[in-house]
Amino acid sequence: MDSLYNLTDVQHKEVLIAYRNSLDNIRQLIAQLYVQYAVDGKLNMVELNKYNRLMAIEKKIMEEVKNLGTIELKQVNLILPEIYKQAYYQSAYIIESTAQTAISFTLLKPEFVKEAVTYNWSGVPFSERIWSNHDSLVRSLRTELTRGIIEGESIDKVARRMKKTFDSKAYESRRLIRTESSRVISAAQDKIYNDSAVVEELIFTATLDSQTTYGCRKLDGKRFKKDDPNKPTLPRHVNCRSCYIPYIEGLTYTTRKDNESKKLTTYKNYDEWYNNKVKK
Ligand SMILES: [Zn+2]
Repeated sequence: MDSLYNLTDVQHKEVLIAYRNSLDNIRQLIAQLYVQYAVDGKLNMVELNKYNRLMAIEKKIMEEVKNLGTIELKQVNLILPEIYKQAYYQSAYIIESTAQTAISFTLLKPEFVKEAVTYNWSGVPFSERIWSNHDSLVRSLRTELTRGIIEGESIDKVARRMKKTFDSKAYESRRLIRTESSRVISAAQDKIYNDSAVVEELIFTATLDSQTTYGCRKLDGKRFKKDDPNKPTLPRHVNCRSCYIPYIEGLTYTTRKDNESKKLTTYKNYDEWYNNKVKK
């Protein structure tokens, strides 16, 4: 399912570009403020509070961030259904080619996919999490600006801190889409494993690279009954890329992807792969 995470990253680039544009726009607003009202490179609160000048700028910042939130939500709403569909059909293909038999699976209806990806799995739907990230972005930007005015900071200093704030929010946005993708892949796989009727057991499959967490390394290659209540739920953690592949009686996997060399390697579990790599 690595290719789906790549797809997620590629499509999420649009969102990162929107973050950069928003930051540029806000920096321009701040620059205007300095050009118009700064004396010796410093802003003055009393001056800025005249005629609600500061409030007007804050309102513009808020609008800018709201616009960014709309773009982000729109893009996430495009990405997740696509990931769900691809995960479902790719997994169907894997089962068919592994079991060497045609399986029954459904053609996914758009309404069904929409419902599956917006399913409220953690108590907070992703749209709300996106909006709360953006609310906190607005708050941080206001704090940075106020601090800059009170402490008489230069425009460079204020602009640099705003960039930092944006960078960390862009990072959070990326983490959110990755976690959501992982959840969606897992939901799509659950569905196809149930629909197919040939899959009874699943193999926990981590990614063969150095970023994999300790817990996922240890679970890699372990087999679980499909309905085992102790089967780890995916994603196991933020940024988790692990998935389940079908185990089919009498069939064994001969190869899997080494995500460091990006090549296929003979099938080994994480520990075997790691030990083999270190010995070399
Ligand atoms: Zn993991």
